[in-house]
Amino acid sequence: MDVGFDSARRRLVRDLMDSGIIKSEAVAEAMLRVPREEFVMPEYRLSAYEDRALPLLGDATISAPHMVAMLCEAVAPREGMRILEVGAGSGYQAAVCAEAVGRRGKIYTIEIELPIAVYAAQNIERLGYAGVVEVFWGDGTLGLPQYAPYDAVIVTAAAPRIPPALMEQLAVGGRLVIPLEEGGGQILYLYIKEAKGARRTALAQVAFVPLRGSGI
Ligand code: SAH
Repeated sequence: MDVGFDSARRRLVRDLMDSGIIKSEAVAEAMLRVPREEFVMPEYRLSAYEDRALPLLGDATISAPHMVAMLCEAVAPREGMRILEVGAGSGYQAAVCAEAVGRRGKIYTIEIELPIAVYAAQNIERLGYAGVVEVFWGDGTLGLPQYAPYDAVIVTAAAPRIPPALMEQLAVGGRLVIPLEEGGGQILYLYIKEAKGARRTALAQVAFVPLRGSGI
């Protein structure tokens, strides 16, 4: 049944460009290529192009499209880049990143809840992203040391502080984007790692589900 997903997707991407959230051709193209209706739970398909988070399993949500675009812009995706994502959820963010880094890039995404990790892996496989995206079940606060260092790390759940393993596994010059709990709310921060320490920029006020795990 054609319910106009393609035109709804184009309209959403145009709106995100008009509002300045999508800044680059790479992110616009990536968002245009990934069918969000295939990543939401089946009962939410008709809401796939509303710019809001939607429920997955448990308390997890697929992030709102503007948040996916903002995270993707924040890591400044380039061809061949290697990205670690903590909080695979539906796999949608990973798929958008995969489109932005191309066939020579690699996205490692880790999910702590087994049923959600399975859901993400099925979506990634079914939509043909398995060559670029690898889904892991585990505690992402410990990172994924076996594939480090990463050019970028994206954390899609809110933490009281940066899990030390994630900064350690980031390459010098690499970008880490993470929502941190602050004063009763959450701020999305971008860190750019330097030889000593990191430079940080506040990007936006946000609302993510909590990051759990032993490495915080
Ligand atoms: N990026 C996802 C949205 C993820 S919602 C998408 O595009 O759909 C946040 C997810 O983080 C939830 O699924 C939650 O289970 C997961 N999570 C929380 N703590 C985690 C941890 N320590 N390691 C990995 N995943 C975690």
